[in-house]
Amino acid sequence: MSKKKFKTEVSQLLHLIIHSLYSHKEIFLRELVSNASDALDKLKYLTLTDDNYKKLDFNPRIDIKFEDGDKKKLIITDSGIGMNEEDLDKQLGTIARSGTKNFLSTLSGDEKKDANLIGQFGVGFYSSFMIADKVEVLTRKAGEENAFLWTSDGENAYSIKEAERDTFGTTITLHLNEEGNEYASRWSLENLIKKYSDHIAFPIFLEYEDTTWEGEGDDRKEKKEIKVEQVNAASALWKKSKSELKEEDYNEFYKTIGHDNDDPLLYLHTKAEGTLEYTTLFYIPKKAPFDMYQADYKAGVKLYVSRIFITDDEKELMPTYLRFLRGIIDSEDLPLNVSREILQQNKVLNNIKNASVKKVLSELQKLSEGNQEKYIEFIEQYNRPLKEGLYSDFTNREALLELIRFKSTEVEGWTSLGAYKERMKDDQKSIYFITGENEDTLRNSPLIEGYVKKGIEVLIMSDEIDEIVIPSIGTYKETELKSVNKSGTADDFKSDVDEETEKKVEPLIKKIKDALGDKVKDVVISKRLSDSPSCIVADENDPTVQMQQMLKSMGQDAPEATPILEVNPTHEIVEKLESVTDKDFINDVSFLLLEQAMLMEGAELKKPADFVKRLNRVLTKAL
Ligand code: ADP
Repeated sequence: MSKKKFKTEVSQLLHLIIHSLYSHKEIFLRELVSNASDALDKLKYLTLTDDNYKKLDFNPRIDIKFEDGDKKKLIITDSGIGMNEEDLDKQLGTIARSGTKNFLSTLSGDEKKDANLIGQFGVGFYSSFMIADKVEVLTRKAGEENAFLWTSDGENAYSIKEAERDTFGTTITLHLNEEGNEYASRWSLENLIKKYSDHIAFPIFLEYEDTTWEGEGDDRKEKKEIKVEQVNAASALWKKSKSELKEEDYNEFYKTIGHDNDDPLLYLHTKAEGTLEYTTLFYIPKKAPFDMYQADYKAGVKLYVSRIFITDDEKELMPTYLRFLRGIIDSEDLPLNVSREILQQNKVLNNIKNASVKKVLSELQKLSEGNQEKYIEFIEQYNRPLKEGLYSDFTNREALLELIRFKSTEVEGWTSLGAYKERMKDDQKSIYFITGENEDTLRNSPLIEGYVKKGIEVLIMSDEIDEIVIPSIGTYKETELKSVNKSGTADDFKSDVDEETEKKVEPLIKKIKDALGDKVKDVVISKRLSDSPSCIVADENDPTVQMQQMLKSMGQDAPEATPILEVNPTHEIVEKLESVTDKDFINDVSFLLLEQAMLMEGAELKKPADFVKRLNRVLTKAL
């Protein structure tokens, strides 16, 4: 027998589950039944496709029984794939899921909030320790001879020892604690199975002791009998017609396959008939999956062929930008025995995928028109993945452009490109946007103050990926999108600066340019500034400051591009500087004009000490 400590993550997770999820303790049954169903799915697939398993006497079912008495027990058995010693160690001693550490570090210690997060993470097998003070897993892997018994009290350690089991499959025995006592009852189990697992595709049998009375009067006798009854519908929910299903059915099914405690934001059930026959059932979770931004996120869509589970680990089933979708694709037109390589190039699957993407996007479009409040809930979670679609899915670009939302100088909350276009001024040529790291910085950027003053709307793009994605949009319905961070954009901006002022300030512009030397690409008279003395922009083909910083933070070589400094000729500082002759002073002020403009764009100063010295020299003079 070997006794082993849980990996730290497991102990942490166990602690959290027990302390934050207690008000949802009943979900343990859903999780265990869902594991049993997965194990049956896996073996079913093997018995149909692998010669080594074809001869197995496979009778897929889940059995649940309980023992009353002093120490109550709940026992859940499946005839699925089972586990060997190595599996037990890996699956029930660690948390195999990637990103677990990351996830745990996001928890706050606030039980309510954490309960939500853990719900998203999916608690799985370990949730049984909410209602049991000891859990035993007796299991034998299909095709192998040895059986093993895994035991733990859910504190720090577990043990594994060799054991006896007649056939392959898994039996989980829960030694119920006080919290769990209520589940040793026919009625509560039946209710829970109906509620959470009605549409598990395999039969779930409940064993209970039935008491009847026989005879009459004094001869009346109590008769006890063990009965075994199938409790669930055991039909694949997605194969039913929509009219047979209620919203509640869809929601409960989602919770089982999505390991979520919340209802989904949206579900979409499609049956295609004709040249291709398939069924899809997609869900969008209310909260983005916790691993959505991890490269090794877990795919959420399962593939079935004629109701037989094939894989839940195939990321190509849906485009990466829709990786938050949960659900099922069930095709009648695929061979059962499909290898991974074949899957990825399979025409049938590709057609299903393309049609599904279109369907999901059009459903979202409908939602955006029909239920704005709900749509905004969606946007708050998934705007960014949709943007990723802009540069990965050109076929659906038009649809995506309608779906994505932006912050703006004109409206509170979110706006679409379509709504922007409707608000455009008669003589406005382009759609303007500003990119940068932080919404607040952008709203206060000198770059947009001229636009704001003239009532021209600017879209605020502070999402990390905007810098890459948005410039690639180019045009929206024949209107060009222009970045105000770039030099050329101000050209279609009617300037308030008259020729006379321009002439007057020319000599100073030259002096500033001389002072700054190679720190700038150029110094020009600004047409867009109103309250600030200066701003910086990138030359048309140069990366913006923000882009350079982003590349750097990603550890990539950022091309060093110097900015163009725009100077506001009507600002008091500039007007006064025109008559200054002290060269050193002009020098200092020139640098300060550049440096403050950089700070306003969220750029870093290379030598803050020099900046402070300059500032102090100028202050001393002014006082
Ligand atoms: P998840 O189901 O999300 O992977 P769990 O903690 O619930 O997480 O289960 C961990 C793993 O243990 C499963 O992925 C599976 O490999 C294995 N497992 C759990 N229950 C069973 C079972 N009844 N039969 C076979 N394997 C199981």
